[in-house]
Formats: sequence, C-alpha cells, structure tokens
Amino acid sequence: MQDLRSLKEVLKTPRRIVITTHHKPDADALGSSLGLFRYLVKKGHEVKVITPSDYPDFLDWMDGNGDVMIYGDQSKDEAASLVGAAELIFCLDFSSLERINELEELVANSEAEKVLIDHHQEPEDFAQYKFWDPNSPATAALVYHFIVDLGDESLIDRAIASCLYAGLMTDTGNFKNTNTNKDAFLVAAGLVDKGVNPGDIGRYIYDSNTIDRIKFLGYALSKKLVILPDFNTAYFAITAEELERFNSQTGDTEGLVNYALSIKGIKLAALIVDRTEMIKISFRSVSDFSVNELARKHFEGGGHKNAAGGKSDLPLEEAVAKFESILNEYKEELNKDYQTITQS
Ligand code: 5GP
Ligand code: MN
Repeated sequence: MQDLRSLKEVLKTPRRIVITTHHKPDADALGSSLGLFRYLVKKGHEVKVITPSDYPDFLDWMDGNGDVMIYGDQSKDEAASLVGAAELIFCLDFSSLERINELEELVANSEAEKVLIDHHQEPEDFAQYKFWDPNSPATAALVYHFIVDLGDESLIDRAIASCLYAGLMTDTGNFKNTNTNKDAFLVAAGLVDKGVNPGDIGRYIYDSNTIDRIKFLGYALSKKLVILPDFNTAYFAITAEELERFNSQTGDTEGLVNYALSIKGIKLAALIVDRTEMIKISFRSVSDFSVNELARKHFEGGGHKNAAGGKSDLPLEEAVAKFESILNEYKEELNKDYQTITQS
C-alpha cells in the first residue's frame, strides 16, 4: 500500500472526516464504510458517512446505520457543510467520481485530502492517498488490511468485523466468484476470529425478502428471461411499470442477473432496468469475457472483469436493441469454449 506511513501521521491528530461510497450502496459499499467509520470513531476522529442515495433495508442491521446521512433534499446543506469542513474524505468502493451523483461536485471542490480505498478497475486520479487493488475481492478486505497495517487490529471488534464480512461475503458471491482468492479466506478467517457469525450475516442479507420481492423474482424468471443461444447470452429487461407492479424497493433487483448467469453454457448475462431517470444495466460474465470493457465502451460504466454496470439514456426497448446489436462485436469471444482444468 502506498503512503500508509504519511496517512498514519495525519491520523495521529483528531480529524474531521467524511466517508462516502457509490450510488445505491451494496453490502460492500456500506459495510466497508461503516466498518471504517466505527474504527475511525474509536480512534477519536469526528466522522460522518454520507451516501449519495438510499440503500436496501437488508443492510440496516449494520452498526452505525442510524448515523448515516443519505444525501437528499433534507440533508443537502448539512452534507455540503460537512464535506466543506472535512480535512479528509475517504472514498470507498468506487473510483469514478460520477458514481456519487451530486456529491461529486462537493467532493471535487473540497480542500480535504482524498483517500481512495477501492478494488474497481481503471480508477480516476482524484485521491492523494490510494489503497487500490483490483485483485482484492472486496473493498471490505482492503479496509481490513488498512486497519491491520495501521497497527490497529486489536480495535476490530465484532460490530466492525460483521460489517466487513458482509461486504466480503456478497462481493465474492458467497466465496464462489472468480475474485475469491486466498486473501478472501484469510480476511474471512480474521473476521470470524473477531466474533463474526457467518450464519447470522448470511441470514440478515439473504433471508429478509419481502413477499413482493419473491413474487417479482418468480415473474422475472418465468416471463422475462431472454436467451440468445448464438451469443451464449441471457438477459432480463424490466420496465418501470413492472417495478411498480411488484412494489419494488431499493435492492429488490439485486442478484437477479445471477440467475441468468447460472444457466449452463451462458457466458454473459445482463439485467436492464428502466429506473425512469435512466436505464441501469448490470452485467455479469464468466471466465475471460470482460464486462468491464463492454460496460465502459458501450454503456458509460465499468466495474470488474466479471461484474460491471452501466447506464443508458435511451428508452428501454432501444437500450435492449443496442445491447443485442453490440453482441455481434463479441460473438467469437462469447462462443469460445470454457477453459478446462488440466494438470500442471
Ligand atoms: P451491480 O451490477 O451489482 O450494480 O454492479 C456490479 C459492479 O459494477 C459493482 O462493482 C459496481 O460497483 C460496478 N458498477 C455498477 N454500475 C456502475 C456504473 O455505472 N459505473 C461504474 N464505473 N461501475 C459500476
Ligand atoms: Mn465492492
């Protein structure tokens, strides 16, 4: 990690700190933010977590949830003054400033030094301190190492560890995605050592569905799944009316794209959702097919090799047509065989 020693010096004095993370925070975004929040508070700093939008209810068990400021009409002025007065701004689980919506301008104009802790590909260059590793399984794992490397492992308590574990568990797809490396297990073991109960965290995150959400899942799987056999691709396109019909709440579509990817032989999966203000797309892939590249090139997005997101200003049907038409560019790659495991 770069610059850790000089940041350690800065953190020797109590500081005014803002932590922020990406739009519609997931468990890694919120868990790494709240884990870091509790640690920095323990160290005597004055800290506020500000999220650019709301986040799913299944994250509200996290310690510190009640202290989070969600940027919006009610909190605009307070957020502006907190960001303006901050000496340090930690940017967690994103590396492109446009992912924090209206906070972008506040953060970009702030005199505070920025600390990036992230694992997304191709980061923008806005931070003075960078703890960035695209091979890290989760930002939560980087926050764990950050605290340990600062010599403060003993300050990681069960509450902090549980937040970090949730990020690690979900970003690795329960320790099965391609980003699940040795570090994922070492960090998980370290967190369990601090008192995390993996069964509890799994239940909080995955077993808190509303009936509407389960019915929506059933509807999407039976009526909305599109398979394009020539491209080993499967996708869902969801209209704004369908979201409304199933009373969809923030986080309710999370994980749906993985069902498309779980079909045998599918190499590329997408979830294309009409969020009214824009079309939001989630991409997933297997093996060497890079959805980071596809999202960056065609849908103003990015992310990781096998999990990325993007957006479009087109109407839903046109965004879907665009998605289908660009697949021609990738046909050969999408039709390449899976790698087989050979003895070395
Ligand atoms: P998801 O599909 O779960 O929303 O996101 C998958 C991955 O892509 C996550 O790591 C997420 O942070 C990233 N991602 C999602 N949407 C965008 C986007 O619009 N721009 C960028 N750069 N990354 C995104
Ligand atoms: Mn992440």
